[in-house]
Amino acid sequence: MDVFLSDIPEEGLHLEGEFPASIFDLPADDPIRPSGPVHYEATLFAFEEVITVHGRLRGPFDLQCGACLEYFPYQADFPDWSSEIDREPDQESFDLETIVREDFLLNLPAHPRCDEYVEGRVCPKADLVEEFSEEAGDEADPTRPNVWGALDDWKQ
Ligand SMILES: [Zn+2]
Repeated sequence: MDVFLSDIPEEGLHLEGEFPASIFDLPADDPIRPSGPVHYEATLFAFEEVITVHGRLRGPFDLQCGACLEYFPYQADFPDWSSEIDREPDQESFDLETIVREDFLLNLPAHPRCDEYVEGRVCPKADLVEEFSEEAGDEADPTRPNVWGALDDWKQ
């Protein structure tokens, strides 16, 4: 959807609407799956060097859990959406669809865990992930042989 810079008045241009999920055009195995149309509200200002966008983005997605790899529903809502587009000297328009697409992809959580976002959900792989992080951080475990103590014994 092209927005013409000549249509943006000094006091700003307010736009509101929806784009279909198909604007994302992601492979089927992508960890992000848009599950419906995305909604935008935007106020645009055209300055000499940049076009600024402020508003809100909302849309339904299925995101892949970083632990169990199952997809869970996620309602994206970015109420403080803002973006900036560098303006070329003879630019007449820009594509709002591209900006909306990119900003959703940038703002969605990168490695989400299903139980962080779905109330009452227990991630079937949560135990594995927690065990792993405990193992990584248990240097103070008193039942483990103390290498520094062994070294002290050797020095005496
Ligand atoms: Zn999970």
